[in-house]
Amino acid sequence: MLATHGDSARVIAGGQSLVPMMAMRLLRPAFLVDINEITALKFVKIEKDFARTGACMRQCVVERDDTLAARVPLLRQALAWVGHVQTRNRGTVGGSLAHADPSAELPLVARMLGAKIVLRSSKGSRTLDAGQFLTGPMSTSAQPDECLEEIHWPVWSEKRTGSAFTEIAIRHGDFAMVAAAAQLAVDESGRCTRAALGLGGAAGTPLAFAEIAARLVGTKLEDKAIEDAASDASKETDPGADLHATKEYRRHLARVLAGRVLREAREKAKLQ
Ligand SMILES: Cc1cc2nc3c(=O)[nH]c(=O)nc-3n(C[C@H](O)[C@H](O)[C@H](O)COP(=O)(O)OP(=O)(O)OC[C@H]3O[C@@H](n4cnc5c(N)ncnc54)[C@H](O)[C@@H]3O)c2cc1C
Repeated sequence: MLATHGDSARVIAGGQSLVPMMAMRLLRPAFLVDINEITALKFVKIEKDFARTGACMRQCVVERDDTLAARVPLLRQALAWVGHVQTRNRGTVGGSLAHADPSAELPLVARMLGAKIVLRSSKGSRTLDAGQFLTGPMSTSAQPDECLEEIHWPVWSEKRTGSAFTEIAIRHGDFAMVAAAAQLAVDESGRCTRAALGLGGAAGTPLAFAEIAARLVGTKLEDKAIEDAASDASKETDPGADLHATKEYRRHLARVLAGRVLREAREKAKLQ
């Protein structure tokens, strides 16, 4: 169907974003390709360095999966902020990534951890980094005839790893004004051996700060080092303004929330 009608067809997964967009006439596809009954798109598999989730996995199932939460804790932490129990019962992991809202939680986790996105069409499959896949607000590099098939979430093997996710929204369940995620690994002396930091709602796509996070490696994650990292990250944001928040306020939130997740991740890592 996608190969034949790609330009005028749309995949429908949980329908939690597509149906509202159709109701508002923002999208008017001639064909809907319903992937809900494709069992091959519903799985969780743990490999050595990454966890694979099928694109059509319901968000609630991923959220409740204890094995996944142990390997990629940010998934459960982020999903707690995605909409409501009712929307997570229906919404899928792949749908959230394909929808590519710049404030959405799962694209932020994918971008910040460096997840791989597997796309399939009748011509074959290709694998992209989340950063290549997410190209702008509500836009991805997927072609109209491609279906998102699965996502590979990196698993950190470091024993002392901690992660944290937080956001500010008008009401819990609303899209974030700004969201922040961090993951840190430390050695037995508390020295940082690996770091990742990301911000959502702070630009047209979720942002990952690999260079800024790398500067934390080798430090003891003192408050000053964390504040500097948070401040540097917020300077690299390019948030929009709307009736909820100005650009300056979003940038302020970016700094405060980045500091908050880094400190929380540090404490969790040291407790391991
Ligand atoms: C009240 C409410 C609150 C919400 N709050 C949040 C929130 O706080 N954070 C958040 O991130 N989301 C939120 N959402 C959106 C929700 O997370 C959606 O589930 C998600 O954005 C889309 O997933 P879906 O499976 O419902 O996809 P659908 O709505 O079915 O599809 C969304 C888009 O992705 C495409 N698509 C879906 N699956 C595939 C695939 N496998 N391959 C290719 N294209 C595909 C569709 O063609 C469509 O363009 C909210 C939704 C509602 C209704």
